[in-house]
Amino acid sequence: MENKYKKIFNTNKLGMLTIKAKNPGKVLTIVACTHGDEIYGMEIFDYLINEFILEKKIISGTINLLIGNKEAYLKGKKIVDFDFNRIWGFEDKYKGSYEYKRANEIKEILYKSDYLIDLHSTTLKSIPMIIPVGKQDDNLIDCFSGTYVLKNLIEFLNGVALAKYAKLKNPNLKAIVIEAGQNNDPKTIEDGKQNIIKFLGYYGFIQNNTNIIKTKKIYLYAKKCIHAKTMNVKFLYSESPQSFQKIKKGTDILQDGENVVKADKDYIIIMPTTPRYIGEELGYLCESESE
Ligand SMILES: [Zn+2]
Repeated sequence: MENKYKKIFNTNKLGMLTIKAKNPGKVLTIVACTHGDEIYGMEIFDYLINEFILEKKIISGTINLLIGNKEAYLKGKKIVDFDFNRIWGFEDKYKGSYEYKRANEIKEILYKSDYLIDLHSTTLKSIPMIIPVGKQDDNLIDCFSGTYVLKNLIEFLNGVALAKYAKLKNPNLKAIVIEAGQNNDPKTIEDGKQNIIKFLGYYGFIQNNTNIIKTKKIYLYAKKCIHAKTMNVKFLYSESPQSFQKIKKGTDILQDGENVVKADKDYIIIMPTTPRYIGEELGYLCESESE
């Protein structure tokens, strides 16, 4: 699959462009394409490099623009062998896979950073979501324009996520995962550019010309995640399952093989989806109250 971003990185085996200021400072790593087909992140890179000309604007520190799952991205696929956002426990079952090798190639870059932003997007229409990794300060969250902040969601993935791994290795790391919305939606991309510029300004990588305007945020706390036990999953609570739908206590949420999963409390469901493999997350059950 040909695409216009290839040329940005085609001389670079690691799939990373590093932009350094004359003044030393903090290290920021932005990861695009942790899932290879989520090209939203590459749109942001393209903008930063070719339109914004970050090279000329950077005043302090180092910024790494890194293609996460490089091989999947080059193939225009989400994954090569395994989900690159689940394999960071380096379990034996992943050995020999492309993603395992790739994780070893880039792991030090991630945990030796001071800031990490992992950019994701979706193929279907979706509301933007901000997913902090561990406790994060409000200013970091406020750089991003989405309303919904999904606390501790990353704890419920079926495996160790890229940003979680980096945070475990470096507890001082400020890490955030952005589910920006639909891949090719111009508004998603435009917001994404503004958000990153806000972040760069606020944290001193570029001249700060923008105030962070505090927008209303709604915090959701993941309480549990339903994982697929079979490939035979049917949602029962709604004909068209979508994020942010409410599910009342006692409702049959879905049928997985012979087993019906019921809501033991009132929940808000996030990312309901039918499985592509056994063990995959079928939806996160969240509450909007305090932790
Ligand atoms: Zn993703």
